[in-house]
Amino acid sequence: MAQDDIKDITQRISRDTLKEVKKIPVLCPWCNNVFTLADYQVEQGKKTEVTHKICPKCLKKVKGSDESK
Ligand SMILES: [Zn+2]
Repeated sequence: MAQDDIKDITQRISRDTLKEVKKIPVLCPWCNNVFTLADYQVEQGKKTEVTHKICPKCLKKVKGSDESK
């Protein structure tokens, strides 16, 4: 029983240390601009890349064109 508890704790610790939160740039594929930085949970040692997400400006445009249908 006690051994299982220790195993559980060590697994939890290793899982926590393997992940780290990094700030990565968020690129809008519509206008090709980095519009914000996002907290991103990445595996430790893993290269951080940009992420793609529509910016509020383009979201408005897209939403606006949808509404005018
Ligand atoms: Zn945009």
